[in-house]
Amino acid sequence: MGKQYKIIFDREVCIGALACNAVAPEVYTLADDGKVDLKGATQRSDGKWELIIDESQVELNREAADSCPVYAIKIEEVDEE
Ligand code: SF4
Repeated sequence: MGKQYKIIFDREVCIGALACNAVAPEVYTLADDGKVDLKGATQRSDGKWELIIDESQVELNREAADSCPVYAIKIEEVDEE
């Protein structure tokens, strides 16, 4: 199995610049409050949103993360057990 990655989205700091949505509209979907939702993500106890992705999706999401002016999107490699 390929490597897995974790997207961590801090919706609190998101300012709705929508750069991520322009890069990956099917992942960062528009929400009613003008921000985006990370599609399929679950909310953690610290309030941030988390989504596990595989290698095939990492490049697109890195691009989205790099496009965000307030660094609301982080991508981490998930350690294999
Ligand atoms: S680019 Fe950043 S600030 Fe803009 S909508 Fe996406 S996460 Fe929010």
